[in-house]
Amino acid sequence: MGLGTVRRTVLVTGAAGFLGSHLCDRLLAEGFEVVGLDNLMTGDLINLDAAGRHPHFHFEIGDVREKLPVYAELVFNFACPASPIHYQHDPYATLTTSVLGAQRLIEMARGRNCTIVHASTSEVYGDPLVHPQPESYWGNVNPIGERSCYDEGKRCAETLLHDAYRRWRVDARIVRIFNTYGPRMAFDDGRVVSSFITQALMGQPLTVFGDGAQSRSFCYVDDLVEGLLRVATVSPFEGPVNLGNPGELTIKDLATLVLELTGATTPIAWRGLPVDDPRKRKPDITKARRLLKFEPEVDIRDGLVRTITNFRERLAAMANQRQRGVQFAPAISLDRQPLRDLASVLPEYVEHVRSCGDAYRTGERMTAAERMIVVSESLGNLHNTLVLALNDAPTNAELRAVDDQLCALLAELGQAQADQDGVRIADLLEHETLPLLARCRAECPA
Ligand code: UDP
Repeated sequence: MGLGTVRRTVLVTGAAGFLGSHLCDRLLAEGFEVVGLDNLMTGDLINLDAAGRHPHFHFEIGDVREKLPVYAELVFNFACPASPIHYQHDPYATLTTSVLGAQRLIEMARGRNCTIVHASTSEVYGDPLVHPQPESYWGNVNPIGERSCYDEGKRCAETLLHDAYRRWRVDARIVRIFNTYGPRMAFDDGRVVSSFITQALMGQPLTVFGDGAQSRSFCYVDDLVEGLLRVATVSPFEGPVNLGNPGELTIKDLATLVLELTGATTPIAWRGLPVDDPRKRKPDITKARRLLKFEPEVDIRDGLVRTITNFRERLAAMANQRQRGVQFAPAISLDRQPLRDLASVLPEYVEHVRSCGDAYRTGERMTAAERMIVVSESLGNLHNTLVLALNDAPTNAELRAVDDQLCALLAELGQAQADQDGVRIADLLEHETLPLLARCRAECPA
């Protein structure tokens, strides 16, 4: 294996959610090694059915509020309940997931070559007094309302991440995501697009809250994911950026459109407007256009048709499964699996890191910055591979072999600690990778 040929590892927190799972699919298609983390509070393994069958996808059940299980040089932070009924169900979990999650990510990224793309939200603008909303608008948010756990949690996470950038140059990239829709939205998430489509397809009345004159601007998920990838790679990145589709429509017009596109003839059921429901929302995407050349391509009719098709298929599959008395079996198993490929994969990574270490020492062929990236990426990958492989219950002999290799590698790297970055890389190995290995060896039957 030549230098720089190891796949880049990306961590996606909230991977089993609607947006997280679409992001994982796209990252796998782009050739990344993807580690998905989710505590399944609102996410669903069914969303990772395709990703779970991919050889370069790894799933870890875990909570972003706790120490992160892997080191990655690119992180997409999507862990947080995001629909009003979900995030209001457990306000404490919602707020702490945003705030402590951001803190954990900063701890992982500080002093390392790591980019964090953080999913913030248009909710930071609250019930906006400026329309459309540019990034420079500070918002109009109730700090103690029913939406506050989400709005204020996301605002606080932005503060933490931006301070980490200001103080420690952590490459934290804040994206304010406006209403997004598409295949895989949960039937029961209470969001307006998923609710209307489900109701129309099931022949139920469409529940319009208030007089339906409130507006939203809906972005199709593929457009959003394209924008997210551009955020991850653009250089330099500047401050928070809005992502969404500025095409605005009222909720009443959306109901009419869903009825037309589904062919449903069900009536509208008028319901009371929820507390603090923003009256209007539309992103100003001038900055995304300039910085990312971002331009949403899927119009609302086209996006809704694709979404309706997906909802129809899923409802039919569910009905079929019910009829046959079978249950969905996810491609990802949460049980420990027998060892898959530790023996073959790890030595390959160790060899790769060693050759990078050589190049690092001798300074051949690469600039200092390139060497830094290759060595730390390789070590990050090595660390991740180990973490993931350890979940597969390796034997003690296999662990001992890896341990020996890592110790030798660390000794070599010790001599290569010419600058601060070298020290940090060796730190990862010494303080995280090796202790982890020691713990696993201690737990492993002889
Ligand atoms: N809404 C509605 N009927 C529903 C669900 C939502 O009329 O069954 C309205 C809701 O009051 C809000 C808009 O649709 O004004 C968008 O709601 P959603 O929960 O999708 O997103 P958010 O309010 O977070 O933008």
